[in-house]
Amino acid sequence: MGTVVEIKVSIDPARYSQARANDAINKAFDEIKRIEEVCSVFKDTSEISRINRLGKDEKLEITGEVFNLIRKTLDYSERTGGAFDITVKPLVDLWSKAKKANKLPGEGELKDALERVGYKNIVLDEAAHTILFKKDGMGIDLGGAAKGYATDRAIRLFKDSGIDSALVTSGGDMYCLGKRSAQEPWRVGIRHPRIKGRIFLEISLKERAISTSGDYERYFILYGKRYSHIIDPRTGYPIGDDIVSASVISADSTTSDILATAMCIMGEKGFGMIRDLGGMDAILVKEEAGRLTAKMSKDIRKRYDISQEKL
Ligand code: AMP
Ligand code: MG
Repeated sequence: MGTVVEIKVSIDPARYSQARANDAINKAFDEIKRIEEVCSVFKDTSEISRINRLGKDEKLEITGEVFNLIRKTLDYSERTGGAFDITVKPLVDLWSKAKKANKLPGEGELKDALERVGYKNIVLDEAAHTILFKKDGMGIDLGGAAKGYATDRAIRLFKDSGIDSALVTSGGDMYCLGKRSAQEPWRVGIRHPRIKGRIFLEISLKERAISTSGDYERYFILYGKRYSHIIDPRTGYPIGDDIVSASVISADSTTSDILATAMCIMGEKGFGMIRDLGGMDAILVKEEAGRLTAKMSKDIRKRYDISQEKL
């Protein structure tokens, strides 16, 4: 998935053998690899690539797994007012071409790509389990949700194998299952967005996912300006440099992954959505006049034990 996956499992040796734990960990890694095979836009054989070869009005029957994942992203496209949109692929391709050529896309190219973007142009048929694009040249990119989904699947496998304590980290997406030990909770850090190797915030989580998206993960610089890999599907442009990162805490990693990407686009306006969705929190790092500031959802410190360094 172009990212590092780290798994920590904590067992009570009196109840669970090391060999069984190793077996469960191997299965979790295999599952994450399987999801990459399914979701990758770079592998011709992946289910997503098969979908992306569809022309206008062509139907394809897809697996229940991919169907459900796509449906979930469409649901969040609605909730985020189109900020999160897996049909962003033509724009992702255009900006990756720009990066390679070291040249900004032309107005015409941008307009053309934008015309092929829009989650409302995906039609899912619940009964037949098919997908259809309403326009030619469309494509989907699950890069903003697949790592979270893979994390959830790994956690599911641990639960099924009777493991009640694990920490799965897939790039910016984490899930904390149970506690690290009888005495200690899982405590995870959010990296400082500008200083390598430094953590700016630590938080204790239990049965909770946290995902962080931001411009510091993957970006490129053209004519001295920083361009993020997160694109606003409504304007066609990568997010502005005032939003540095967004972290979202929720009950599952797929949702956190989706919403962290969306919050990078929505900025502070996204806090209202997070509050309305309920049971979620967000942390937004902004850069204003060269100064980094962190904004958090109301009362987050009442819900979680947080320690924070100066940015
Ligand atoms: P993440 O690291 O989870 O924030 O996901 C970023 C990836 O999601 C990008 O590399 C693109 O593949 C994809 N992406 C970019 N912009 C959007 C968007 N507005 N909605 C959904 N996916 C996006
Ligand atoms: Mg994401």
